[in-house]
Amino acid sequence: MLDRVLILRLPQLPTPILTAYLDTNPADPRNQRRPPGYFIWLKSRAKIIGGRAPAAEQKLFREQLARVEAHLRSRPPRERGLAVFAGPQDWHLLPLHVAVEDELHWGRPSLTQLLWLLDEHQPCGAVLVDRSGARFFRFWLGEIEEQQDAALVLDTSAWKGKEIAAPAHAGAQKTRGSMRDVFEQRVEAQYARFFRDAAQHIVQWAQRETLRPVFIAGPNESVEPVWAELPKTFQEHAALVKGFSGKITPAELQERIAPERERWQRAHELAVVNEMLAQSNGRRAVAGMDETLARLQQGDARELAVVRGLGGKLRQCVKCQWADRSGDPACPACGGERRTVALRAALPELARKFGVTVEVVAGDAAAKLRAAGGLAAWLR
Ligand SMILES: [Zn+2]
Repeated sequence: MLDRVLILRLPQLPTPILTAYLDTNPADPRNQRRPPGYFIWLKSRAKIIGGRAPAAEQKLFREQLARVEAHLRSRPPRERGLAVFAGPQDWHLLPLHVAVEDELHWGRPSLTQLLWLLDEHQPCGAVLVDRSGARFFRFWLGEIEEQQDAALVLDTSAWKGKEIAAPAHAGAQKTRGSMRDVFEQRVEAQYARFFRDAAQHIVQWAQRETLRPVFIAGPNESVEPVWAELPKTFQEHAALVKGFSGKITPAELQERIAPERERWQRAHELAVVNEMLAQSNGRRAVAGMDETLARLQQGDARELAVVRGLGGKLRQCVKCQWADRSGDPACPACGGERRTVALRAALPELARKFGVTVEVVAGDAAAKLRAAGGLAAWLR
């Protein structure tokens, strides 16, 4: 799993830093050649980026590049992508299990691509529940992690012990058959209590880990009663995956959940975009590039929807960071000097600055949102 603490520290790394994002997908034919395609790309891109580095930093640049190349030679990545942040005092490798685009930067650590990946791949969860207990899994950026400290184990051995006393209450004339019925009813009541407790535990866990959605998976006899105990508001960000046993391995679970997740995500994005556009009257929601950017930077937005891969340029103030599409050379907010920036680079940072969650949408939702300007937001 990616190191969440490290990600928070990356913006503070001392400059200059060499940032490399490499598409190292072993399934891509370009990476099956020797040397692999990402290595060739790195070498040729480094000539351009290195040429632009200040003269005083040329040696530093070459040293960091050599480190990255040596690492790639000695330990060819097996993951789909790799992000490297290398500086005189720093060496941070982030293996990535999702699609990455090749990029190389020198100077400030470049977090743009990483921030987009984090926005697009929100962590989600799966709970495998059956009559022996519940296992908890966290999915993030193409990886799966079983959280053993969250697990619930149902110990049924104690139930039998207690139930031996049952005939005394049930009466001496009860037949063996009805005694068994009483016992079974009590066992069922115990299971019902377990499913109720499990549902509560799931809600707390998902909140603590900020997981969305959560898949409740397992045999029908267990997932149905657990589902019934979950609050309606929770069910909106959860889904049932019925009909498999608790013996499944994490890798098998990930494979089973992947298409469910894809389906859930597309439907969710479409619902978000439809609702935002329907309410985009400027009071509850707002749509369109200029209006949304303005409301975001006025602190009015709480959730942003953006088309994946949205292009375009903005002009951004070097003093106060205000950004818009107008050609004005001076900042409308503070009169400061402005420079041209890619929307793609500015947006994740603006969203974080104003504490706004970002929904990166693809598929049908993206087509609808693109027609409305590519950007929309819920207002506070
Ligand atoms: Zn300004």
